[in-house]
Amino acid sequence: MDDSRRCTSKAKQSGERCKRAAIIGGTVCKIHGGGAGQVIAAAERNRELEAARRELSALGEPEDIDPAQALLRLISWKYGEVQWLRAQVRDLPADDLAWGRTEHRAGTGPEGPVDLHTEKASPSVWWTLLREAEDQLADYSTRALKAGIAERQIQIAEGQAMLVAGVIRSIYARLNLTPEQHAIKDQIARDEFMKLSQGPVMA
Ligand SMILES: [Zn+2]
Repeated sequence: MDDSRRCTSKAKQSGERCKRAAIIGGTVCKIHGGGAGQVIAAAERNRELEAARRELSALGEPEDIDPAQALLRLISWKYGEVQWLRAQVRDLPADDLAWGRTEHRAGTGPEGPVDLHTEKASPSVWWTLLREAEDQLADYSTRALKAGIAERQIQIAEGQAMLVAGVIRSIYARLNLTPEQHAIKDQIARDEFMKLSQGPVMA
């Protein structure tokens, strides 16, 4: 057996190390204290931490003292981004949803002088971004659940982010933004959400 998996208890007389396997997530076997309630609970907590750590590193996130909290933070901010993008999509004029991009050809083509506007049936950029963010959020949540983080905790993290997204929108609504500011405000907010949900995990 791998020594790291072995019970660390030693026989008093011979000093020989116990040959049994330690309980998973713990350092001792059932006979040497591994059956006690608090030892089982600590081992369980270690297993959860380990699982959360694995999911975090799979996401390319740095190690964290509390990987479960780090995962929840990621979920929280990604949820904020999703809420934000949902509001953006809701506000889009119906036509923009399907007819997002316009191609303009002007000048002289092989067919003679051209001045053509072509509307392409491509989904709005906000719509595409929303889909991407939703996929990422689903991925984060799945990883958190896999790491043993309770659904209730995930919902709380999401609720916090929803508040933030709502506050930002209220602030915008009360500011008298110039058309120029108005045009860039959503991109700025989204960039900031992205930084939070993709950047290094903050303590
Ligand atoms: Zn033992």
